[in-house]
Amino acid sequence: MRYCKNCGLLAPYDTDRCPQCGAPLPCEPPRQSPAPQPAPCYKTPHPEENIPALSEWATLGTLLLFAIPVFGFILSLAWSFGFSKHPARKRLAQAWLIRTLVVTVVAALVWIFLAVVAAASFSTTYYYAY
Ligand SMILES: [Zn+2]
Repeated sequence: MRYCKNCGLLAPYDTDRCPQCGAPLPCEPPRQSPAPQPAPCYKTPHPEENIPALSEWATLGTLLLFAIPVFGFILSLAWSFGFSKHPARKRLAQAWLIRTLVVTVVAALVWIFLAVVAAASFSTTYYYAY
């Protein structure tokens, strides 16, 4: 509760003006009565957490579809760009797509590295053969 500075009335917190005299009430929190603070009404920082999750079978089925080599990649691409009405499926598709891209890039780098090492070892053995 706050006290009105004008008339001294004890005013509730949900009003910003004194119900008796209409004077604006100070918006400072109380000192003597530590009431539980109301939750601050900012916007939800993670709106994706409000997305209802897919059921376990739907998730399993989606992942099985994604596991199909070419079709699954196209499907995850399509779903991650919004061709699915289910937001959780879209999120799953995006996660899968990112994972697939990371795996592809890492695999490509490993293969390039192995090819360079193989070429280098081949050329050195060729060089030392003479
Ligand atoms: Zn007042």
